[in-house]
Amino acid sequence: MNPIRSCIGCRKTGSPTSLMRMVLVDGKVIFDQQQIAPGRGAWVHRKCLELAIDRKAFKWAFKLTEMPEISNEVTELLTEMDAKDMKLK
Ligand SMILES: [Zn+2]
Repeated sequence: MNPIRSCIGCRKTGSPTSLMRMVLVDGKVIFDQQQIAPGRGAWVHRKCLELAIDRKAFKWAFKLTEMPEISNEVTELLTEMDAKDMKLK
């Protein structure tokens, strides 16, 4: 059994190990690190997270009428990535 998920950012498919699972809790998008939280999950590559937020991909991923709030935890993931990019330069 090799489940295939598709990234809400680039729409490409990948295995769950290459994607991050996001879930909606109390109207906020949170990072489901263990990939076991109940309910609908949205899968996204780490590098596609910013794109997914920009494109309001979480809105349709969770079948909402408005873009949901992004938790601080997820926003921090973006900040961490930016910090890494700066180190590489
Ligand atoms: Zn992607």
